[in-house]
Amino acid sequence: MTQKSIPVATLTKAQIKPFKKLLIQYLQHLGVKLENMEEAVLRPDTDNGPEDGDDFGAGVGLREFQLGLIENENEILHEVRAALKRIDGGAYGLCLHCNEPIPIGRLEARPYARFCLEHQLQYELGQLDID
Ligand SMILES: [Zn+2]
Repeated sequence: MTQKSIPVATLTKAQIKPFKKLLIQYLQHLGVKLENMEEAVLRPDTDNGPEDGDDFGAGVGLREFQLGLIENENEILHEVRAALKRIDGGAYGLCLHCNEPIPIGRLEARPYARFCLEHQLQYELGQLDID
């Protein structure tokens, strides 16, 4: 019983910091490289050579991010910006629907995640009545 009443903690500033850095990198990639994104992803072994190698960051799949971009770049750009706003507003890492903390592992896979897994699924199924 000793730890029963401890609430699930929101992320600390130290925990948020790498996500913020990552989101800013995403924005930079979106802004600077969007034109060439499709070619870069679809032809990974181009002999022009990579521009910035594997230096993107630990534990996050840039390639998956890029693949997502091709389909949804505007939506993701919007989400990345919204995530940065949530960081500034102190609400980063909370589900927009239920306000529960989003598991950090989920944020590592998708730093701009807006929902917990449950509500993300509902959102994608069109069952969530939100913006
Ligand atoms: Zn939720």
